Amino acid sequence: MQANATPLNNIRSAEPMLDWTAIDTVLLDMDGTLIDLNYDNHVWNDLVPAAFASAADIQVTEAKQQLQHHMREIHGTIRFYSFDYWSSYCGIDMTGVHNLVPHMIDYRCGARAFLNWLRDSRRPAIIATNAHRDSVDIKHRHTGICNEVDAVVSSHDYGYPKEDPEFWRQLQRHHPYDPARTLFVDDNEPVLDAAARAGIRHLLCVSLPDSDRPERHDLSYPSFNCFTDIYPQCHTPQQNRT
Ligand SMILES: [Mg+2]
Repeated sequence: MQANATPLNNIRSAEPMLDWTAIDTVLLDMDGTLIDLNYDNHVWNDLVPAAFASAADIQVTEAKQQLQHHMREIHGTIRFYSFDYWSSYCGIDMTGVHNLVPHMIDYRCGARAFLNWLRDSRRPAIIATNAHRDSVDIKHRHTGICNEVDAVVSSHDYGYPKEDPEFWRQLQRHHPYDPARTLFVDDNEPVLDAAARAGIRHLLCVSLPDSDRPERHDLSYPSFNCFTDIYPQCHTPQQNRT
């Protein structure tokens, strides 16, 4: 045996969840899929209500209630995901608030290694996100995520959220893919429903979008937490899973 060879009993072969010979293109959500949703949840649940309360001169609890009520009203629309809309609604600088805690931005378990594997396997990888372009820029600045994929599409580029069939029509027009040989991964089930209606055959849901919250077990789609569980690999147990 060579000095640097790995003993066979130290090799762990993971059984992949997918038939990768049937997949040519991979579409990936960003927040809660590639990036830990812990950052966005902290910003939207804590920092935005605090900034809104200060700007409107109201109590933080009142600001939270008002925001949650209005979020329910416009949930799933393009406005729901727009920094411009919420900046105007709250009277605050939404991009500035998002820049307060950049140290919280990080990849989810195994996400960066998965993107490297996709590149090595020569499969096009496209981020398809409802995040506003300013949000994409902030995530990229602290992770370099846009450099890890072939393209980044924000639903704001098209004016339709991923929940809308028009998003998928426009995505295919701008980035042609065969839906029968495409994988889409997201942490949002209504978005996965829309992708299914658009004909995308391989769909996976993320069971633990926010590392600070409990894992979800009641999902309608096949689900996983760490990306190392969805692609073939052969590595030693000591290897880093990030
Ligand atoms: Mg998401």
